[in-house]
Amino acid sequence: MTEQPTDVVDLGPEPITREFAEAAKRQYRATRIPIADKMPIEIVREIADERVRQHAKWGEQNHPNGTGPTVYQSAASSLTNGHLRDIAKRQTDRHAAAGVVTFADILIEEVAEALAEDDPAKLRAELIQVAAVAAQWVEKIDRDEAKAAAS
Ligand SMILES: [Mg+2]
Repeated sequence: MTEQPTDVVDLGPEPITREFAEAAKRQYRATRIPIADKMPIEIVREIADERVRQHAKWGEQNHPNGTGPTVYQSAASSLTNGHLRDIAKRQTDRHAAAGVVTFADILIEEVAEALAEDDPAKLRAELIQVAAVAAQWVEKIDRDEAKAAAS
């Protein structure tokens, strides 16, 4: 049995040296585009603060999900969540192909995907995507503000 050197990190089938991993991390940090003056962790903190405010105002909420592909948008609507998801996806794809996609398109598509999901695990995954797109949109607004302040 061969003894594994202590300077090796097992990250899968091909072990890489700690030195290589550190160099890769340094290179990643050096080439990363700075995100204005607000790093994403601060946005995450703002979201957590908002959750605290929501909880203080409403307490623990246990509403039904109300989602699924055959659930209608409203009693007066013939549009199901499945239809809404398909429409939103087509619109995002069309706008992306034409080079005019917006964050509004992307967020609506993600929300529509969540609304059309009735499996709780898949619904949860879609809601995380909704939150991630919203955070990404906030980052973009912050970059725009930083650029405007610098000019
Ligand atoms: Mg999605």
